[in-house]
Amino acid sequence: MTKETLTVCPYCGAGCLMVLTTENNYIKKVSPFMKGDKFLCPKAVKVADFVHNPKRLTKPLVRDNNTFKETSWDNALNIIASRLSEIKDKHGPDSIGFMGSGCFTNEEIYIYQKFVRTVIGTNNIDSCARICHIPSLKALMRSIGSATMSNTMDEIEDTKLIFIAGYNPEVCHPRLYFKKIKTAKNKGHKIIVMDPRMTSVAKIADIFLQIRPGTEIPVLNAMANVIIKENLIDERFINNRTEGYEELKTSVEKYTPEFAENISGVSAKSIIDAARLYATIGNVVTLWGMGMTQHICGVDNVSALINLLLLTGNIGRVNTGLSPVRGQNNVQGASFIGALPDIFPGYKYVTDPDAQEKFKKLWAVESLPTKEGLTSTEFLPNVLAEEGSGINKIRALYIAGENPALSQANLNLIRRALMEVDFLVVQDIFMTETAKFADVVLPACTFAEKAGTYIRLDRAVQLLNPAISPLGESLPDWKIIKMLGHKMGHANLFPYNTESDIWEEIRKAIPDMAGITYERLTDGNAIHMPCPDICHPGTPVKYTDKFPRPSGRALFVPVNYRPPAETPNEEYPFTLITGRDAYHYNTSTITRFVPYLKQRTDRAYLQIHPKDAARYEILDGDDVEVVSRRGKVVLRASVTEEVMPGVVFAPFHFCEDPINLVTNNALDPLSKTPEYKITAIKIRKIDSDITRQEKIKECGHKI
Ligand code: SF4
Repeated sequence: MTKETLTVCPYCGAGCLMVLTTENNYIKKVSPFMKGDKFLCPKAVKVADFVHNPKRLTKPLVRDNNTFKETSWDNALNIIASRLSEIKDKHGPDSIGFMGSGCFTNEEIYIYQKFVRTVIGTNNIDSCARICHIPSLKALMRSIGSATMSNTMDEIEDTKLIFIAGYNPEVCHPRLYFKKIKTAKNKGHKIIVMDPRMTSVAKIADIFLQIRPGTEIPVLNAMANVIIKENLIDERFINNRTEGYEELKTSVEKYTPEFAENISGVSAKSIIDAARLYATIGNVVTLWGMGMTQHICGVDNVSALINLLLLTGNIGRVNTGLSPVRGQNNVQGASFIGALPDIFPGYKYVTDPDAQEKFKKLWAVESLPTKEGLTSTEFLPNVLAEEGSGINKIRALYIAGENPALSQANLNLIRRALMEVDFLVVQDIFMTETAKFADVVLPACTFAEKAGTYIRLDRAVQLLNPAISPLGESLPDWKIIKMLGHKMGHANLFPYNTESDIWEEIRKAIPDMAGITYERLTDGNAIHMPCPDICHPGTPVKYTDKFPRPSGRALFVPVNYRPPAETPNEEYPFTLITGRDAYHYNTSTITRFVPYLKQRTDRAYLQIHPKDAARYEILDGDDVEVVSRRGKVVLRASVTEEVMPGVVFAPFHFCEDPINLVTNNALDPLSKTPEYKITAIKIRKIDSDITRQEKIKECGHKI
């Protein structure tokens, strides 16, 4: 029988609605929902190719020397429960780390963090947000008091100026690019782009600030300098809604446009033009991506952006606002619902005594861990910590829906840690690079097989509906965690029979969600949180009268330029930037099995400027060895003026050509996010990559 199910795209945070037409538990067709933007990009249209792929994990597996054997759920969970208990008893709860996923539903994130905090007794839980927008969260929490987008996606097309920093919307959120930004352009609105690369959106920008990598702060501070010097500030807003203005004013005095030009390579005139346009046009929406955050100064980069929009009063009104455009479909939910080592559900700090009391009462437990946990970028290096070194050594890892063996920086170190960790559980839908190191592998199911909610990048909560039943013995992530909680003797903490039971507890845990019910989300309805009660329509525009800080005011945070952890030198003369390709997603766990997408991009490439290519006698399509202080990889050259001389770019999706073998794991001290965006490298043309097939086989796996 044919059935149509309305659900949400599993890829990016734009949260496009899709209709899955199914027959006999098989997805026959994927169509856009005929309301709103009616948009689906090629990845979304081809979801059936990964959902029904024969390589899906459909049974629990346990390691048996150098191979895996199928086993029952009961046995797999018994092994996990007993090993986690043993390690916890011997080394303490903080010796175990848990990675959750930005593609979990809110309900799955909630039950996962509850399991970690109550059953294990640690705050060692983190998600992929760590390697994308935690710097935004840190900067926003200190300046604004909350870390979500302030306005809605729809307002982007009706603002007067879109300021885009370190963000390539065409590949990260195609709906935003094709349906909002291009529409704004067609309506005659202005665009300013700040980026080291000439991306598609830079090509249609009115002003393109092509910065040298890592020089965001000088340019943004120089814009603030111009706005203050020329008295283009919004004085009323500053007086009534902010604090710390005088400190900011003093701090940006030295950042003249000429000073910024010297560091960034952007002409003083362009900086002045951008500042004047930004401050005088009336309404500005500011969008930023990982180009801003993946630096050792990622938090400060974001603060510099926030300072600009506070100076000009571009927040708290319709068609203005700040937009940290989160990548993965529910990475906003992963942070907000508490898959973070310092934050309980609802952005409440684990160190806050009131939050502690609230969650102890809600979960009916006597104690909760009060110490902030480790981040996911610390888990694996800490596996390698020397005994007795005083470092919190990690002995066991539970990794759900994440693939650090490909996604984390400095993979040689990460893979050594995955080899050495005492006990590793991986819960996923495919045998990922990380799963190949595991002791136990648990088969989870895809978005098409589950219900629950996601939070779109603009805070809209949307409902997923299961189109098919789980394939094989795979299970939704929340059921797996519930079963494990029961196995470990805590059935009372996980009494849920359905996703909706968990959602009802989330509504009690987070006042901003209290008014959102599954019933209100049917038929593709989206509600922007905060939504405090059942009659509340939701909140499209936040901060209209005050900011959620103790003073009710937003805080200017002065920030200063500091150079990247690695700068080019004679031996490593190029700066490597990494990022996304339009046809693959994250570690390509779900896109690599889609023939249509593979045909479009089948391996990693290295974008290189024609002048550099000529100097090294490199032609388009040549194999090029890329070497950093940490590792090397061979990529196919793509000669293009999209990058400037001295700068190269490579996508990070491909297991055969993992660019993270070379990237730098130097961390921002505040966010613990690695500096993926700047690696000093050298390159060499090679005749042919004859070992590539070997590398495909190896891919750093135990078996
Ligand atoms: Fe899916 Fe994002 Fe494409 Fe929409 S824009 S279809 S959410 S990947």
